[in-house]
Amino acid sequence: MNGANCVFCKIASGDIPSQKVWESPDYLAFRDLNPQAPSHMLLIPKRHLASLAEAGEADAPMLGGLQVAAATVAREQGLDSFRLVTNSGADAGQSVLHLHYHLLAGRRMAWPPG
Ligand code: 5GP
Ligand code: ZN
Repeated sequence: MNGANCVFCKIASGDIPSQKVWESPDYLAFRDLNPQAPSHMLLIPKRHLASLAEAGEADAPMLGGLQVAAATVAREQGLDSFRLVTNSGADAGQSVLHLHYHLLAGRRMAWPPG
């Protein structure tokens, strides 16, 4: 799928409302609709990419920027302990086919994840 019918592309463009936490020209962080921790945000590149599995060499700068964006959001939110997760593929639990990192914090995390 390209971005045409993608819910996160629509959130990035503002067509679907979201609780924005942080934004830059290339990235957006917003609150997850169904939070799994006291603080649960989703961090996306505004440009559509279905999942990390689709990434290639040309995406390296975008992916690097996404990591730095996660660190920036965590700092701004005062989170000194957090978990950054991306689910890639159905068995991993990916339900929205637009690359996103879950930024989770505010409770003790279990390991390994389920
Ligand atoms: P995944 O299951 O793909 O790893 O994560 C998708 C996440 O997106 C889920 O945690 C789900 O709650 C969240 N989500 C799905 N649709 C929306 C939406 O329209 N708005 C927001 N804020 N979160 C959404
Ligand atoms: Zn998309």
